[in-house]
Amino acid sequence: MSTPSTQPSGIEPNVSAVQTERALGSGGVRPRERTFVRGKGALLWDESDRRFIDCSAAHGTASLGHAHPALTRAIERQAGRLIAATAAFANDQRSAYMSELSSALPEGFERLFLCNSGTESVEAALKFARLATGRTSVVACVRGFHGRTMGALSATHERRYREPFAPLVPGFTHVPYDRIDKLDAAVTGETAAVVLEPVQGEGGVRPASAEYLQAAERICRERGAMFVADEVQTGFGRTGRMFAVERHGVTPDLLCMAKGIASGFPMGAVALGGRVGEIPAGAHGSTFGGNPLACAAARATLTTLLEQRLPERSEALGTWFRDRLSAIESSRVRAVRGVGLMNAIELKERSRPFLDALEERGVIALAAGPNVMRFLPPLVVLREELEEVLCAVSEVLA
Ligand SMILES: *Cc1c(COP(=O)(O)O)cnc(C)c1O
Repeated sequence: MSTPSTQPSGIEPNVSAVQTERALGSGGVRPRERTFVRGKGALLWDESDRRFIDCSAAHGTASLGHAHPALTRAIERQAGRLIAATAAFANDQRSAYMSELSSALPEGFERLFLCNSGTESVEAALKFARLATGRTSVVACVRGFHGRTMGALSATHERRYREPFAPLVPGFTHVPYDRIDKLDAAVTGETAAVVLEPVQGEGGVRPASAEYLQAAERICRERGAMFVADEVQTGFGRTGRMFAVERHGVTPDLLCMAKGIASGFPMGAVALGGRVGEIPAGAHGSTFGGNPLACAAARATLTTLLEQRLPERSEALGTWFRDRLSAIESSRVRAVRGVGLMNAIELKERSRPFLDALEERGVIALAAGPNVMRFLPPLVVLREELEEVLCAVSEVLA
């Protein structure tokens, strides 16, 4: 696939770029008319300089908001020092980030694997679980989303994502989420791992109960399976704690991270607990994983999250926002759900027309299944900006 190298004369460069993106894009993404060109905090501007409040944060990645000065500076500085360095040698940024991330994790994690995306973090966790247990079966959840590479896709539930690529990795089963009895019945002496999200994201913003997550930990311990918590969407302050498992005092064996880890810069990570055991040198790896530029971005993100107490802010502001969403009177609403700044309205009808209507009013929000409107603003979003969002939501749902 090649990109045309010259601009056809008489066509604005940006128009041509958009046409090229549409023509050459890989598909799967809804073609959108709008082209975003810059951002600041929780605001985005399109090519005609119209302003939007960003309640998508690029699928929950841009935790510090757009163009955060600490992040921009860290990337600029590191780009001028060293961009490329693999794990063949140590690197100052990677070493520093690994120790800083270790301190920010809940108790019980001893090692880290750095990669470049959420699906890679899940893929790595599945491989580590096989190595740790010598088993191959995996129990995942109905409505769970874990990524789109073959292993992670096998754990993902949505048929639309799976079926075109069958056969997937064998040995995966899906049980109803937040049902202890179903999980208890599914996990056996053959199970390598239980993989689940503490709050399902793509599946409709569904928080699991504390009892369920505690039972998942206990069942895995009893039967010698690895408990994999996929915190790709919930991690790094999104749910009002640094990690969602901290709300319930559960300790997974493998904790998957990505999305908000470097505030929009591509990165992923897995934390490994003591039960995982030795991973032989060279058994798994990544050329780009833990590169200095990503580590510099992740360091700036983590430092800012801690210094500005953004997880606490996410809890307080998120609770206020959710209460206000719940107070909106509309016969179209079935339920309002969420934790911290990960919130959703489930409608009795399809959400797409309402998301489009929000966009018309200058608010970008996300779907999460056919009937859900999901709000994942940057953690630095201002209360006044959320006031505007609430106004727009009540208008479109009227
Ligand atoms: C987005 C997501 C993934 C996949 O992350 P990518 O970076 O898109 O590969 C995996 N798990 C969860 C819970 C996610 O929300």
